[in-house]
Amino acid sequence: MNDMSEDWRLLNQLQYLYNARLVFKPYNHCGHWDREQCEFCAKKFDVAVVENTMQQGYVTEAGDRWVCEKCYGDFGEWFDWG
Ligand SMILES: [Zn+2]
Repeated sequence: MNDMSEDWRLLNQLQYLYNARLVFKPYNHCGHWDREQCEFCAKKFDVAVVENTMQQGYVTEAGDRWVCEKCYGDFGEWFDWG
């Protein structure tokens, strides 16, 4: 496992996303806001195909936290998601 603890994207996500159950889904506005951001890199999710947004990603079972595919790949082992 790479040591990701120095990664710029890592803030306090370990407190709420460690060992979380994430499901790959099309983005569907089920979070707190019309537009969600990746919990790590802050890239935006949108149901509409808008430049620099993503239309699918990994979401918690509660549906309130989204993680993009890139960050899921980068942090998956570290966070024990899979
Ligand atoms: Zn990301």
